[in-house]
Parts: sequence; C-alpha cells; structure tokens
Amino acid sequence: MLSSFKKYFKKKGKCLLCDIIDLEKKEGERIIYENHYFIALLPYFAMWPYEIHVYPKGHVQSLPDLSDEEELHLADMLRVITATYNTLFDRDLPYMMVFHQKPTDNKDYGYYHMHIEFYQPYRDKDKLKYAAGIEWGFWVFTYDGVPERKAYELREACRKALRKIGRYLGKTP
Ligand SMILES: [Zn+2]
Ligand SMILES: [Zn+2]
Repeated sequence: MLSSFKKYFKKKGKCLLCDIIDLEKKEGERIIYENHYFIALLPYFAMWPYEIHVYPKGHVQSLPDLSDEEELHLADMLRVITATYNTLFDRDLPYMMVFHQKPTDNKDYGYYHMHIEFYQPYRDKDKLKYAAGIEWGFWVFTYDGVPERKAYELREACRKALRKIGRYLGKTP
C-alpha cells in the first residue's frame, strides 16, 4: 500500500487517497455518511459486499495528527458506521475495523493518507460470503453485486440508524 501511494505521488504530484476522495465526491453514488472532517463510503474497488472505508478529508498520516475537533468527528463516524451495520440486517453484525497509519520509524511519509477500513463477512442476513475457488485459487476477489447498489442499501440503513442515534454531527447524501 505504501509503495502504491509513493508511486502515485511521484507520478502525479498528488496523494492517491485525496484523489479518490475527490472522485467519490464527484460521483456521489457510493458515499454513505459524511461529517465535517471524515467521509465514509463503499469504494468501487471493494472486495467484501458491505465493505466501508472511512477517510479523513484532510491529508493526515496517523491518529496523533488529528486535532481534538477531528477526533470528536472520528468518534461520531465510528458510532454511525457501527450503528449502520447493526441496522442493515436488523441484527448485531460482527465486523473487523482496520486502522491503516504510517509506519513509526520517523521517516517521511508525506505521500501517505491514513484511513480506516471496515470488513464484515455477511452478504445477506444469514449468508456469509466465502472466499472460494476464484479467491483462493487465483487471489482474485469477486464482488457479489454492484457497489453502487450495496452503497444505496448501506445509505438507507444509515438513515434509519441516525434516527435511532438521535444526536450526530454529519449527514447522509
Ligand atoms: Zn491525501
Ligand atoms: Zn487501507
């Protein structure tokens, strides 16, 4: 991941993730929730049906780079996304929350952009997505469905979750 960010930065003079955020905002169809400092979306390159990525809108490399105000908005984001998952199929969904930050060796990672990825293994209320022949055999992940359609389902679940939560800082598109 680091080398992809580096390569992109060398070639374009811009950050890969900043460019992805610009593209997602322009297209709009895969955005699930957004507050002042963070955006949550189902990326067009998702592997899992209901994968959600959370990106800081500012170009930051790790959690300590966040201001107090940004931390508050990150907490809002994590609360809304987990509530969205629990609303999606009307059950507690297990999930993995993965933080990607710059390495801690004090080198310069100015080209890198931290982010959080959510993976949850269900493709329907009682159906797990399995890594099968194509995934294990060729290391190619097939996507069950169309990302824009799944993003729509997540957005609707998010709207419902927001009604339950009551107090939040952002909005669904
Ligand atoms: Zn960036
Ligand atoms: Zn990542």
